[in-house]
Amino acid sequence: MRGVSLTFDGLKIQGFSRAGDETWFRIDPPGLALDVGKGASPLIGARWIFLSHSHLDHTVGIPWVLTQRKHQGLGPTTIFCPRTMAGDLIDYIGAASRLESQDLSAEVVGLEPGESRELEQGLRLEVFEANHTVPALGCHLIRRQQKLRRDLEGMAPREVARLKGNGVEVTRDCEELWLSYCGDTGAELFAREPRLFETKILLVECTFMSPQTRSHGERFGHLHLQDLAALAGRFENEAIVLCHLSRRHRLADLERAVLRDLPELADRIHFIIGDEPGTGK
Ligand SMILES: [Zn+2]
Repeated sequence: MRGVSLTFDGLKIQGFSRAGDETWFRIDPPGLALDVGKGASPLIGARWIFLSHSHLDHTVGIPWVLTQRKHQGLGPTTIFCPRTMAGDLIDYIGAASRLESQDLSAEVVGLEPGESRELEQGLRLEVFEANHTVPALGCHLIRRQQKLRRDLEGMAPREVARLKGNGVEVTRDCEELWLSYCGDTGAELFAREPRLFETKILLVECTFMSPQTRSHGERFGHLHLQDLAALAGRFENEAIVLCHLSRRHRLADLERAVLRDLPELADRIHFIIGDEPGTGK
């Protein structure tokens, strides 16, 4: 299968990502697509789709995914995207419906930075502004959890159980950033959204890595490995998954550069790249 699959802390991430070729991920739970690339089988089961921005290497597969969902009778689909592209996306789906002679309708929800939507009980999506050449968003997947009340921390489990048995509320509600996806973005993003340093799983692009491409990131709204190296001391994440490598670079070279330039993070860094750069031949 085209794609890579990783699991962290009960969350499965499957995907393929090459700059300019295609980028898509499927996240379980809850069955959420983060961008759709050219369309890929694992995305068919995604009840929710988040599109980070309008560039076609992230979005062109939408009609294919919706057609497949329709053929398999897979209920409604909700697509979250930047508000600025919602109208064009609705037109695109409308044109595809006419070409296919069937209604591919999906609920398109245009979002502004800071907005949030409940996906299922205890799990919500919150979006933040990225820094790209077109309006772009990233998103946090936030889970609500029950944790022991702070004032009971350190208490013997038997004692906690006794309190609970007496009808005392021993837990508190708290929210945790489970996964954050940055879409396509330049380095300004981290000043805009510092919570990215504390999310459990950070899915972040690393498009460029060579000295020759050092200035490309700023010019095209992408990250260079050295942008991440400059912030290395701040990443508290359990896992950092790099994606969206330029087709001019090989995955093996990025793996070596991470060991050399980010040694303190290397054991927490993973890759969903897909080392099949199209040659165009
Ligand atoms: Zn882009």
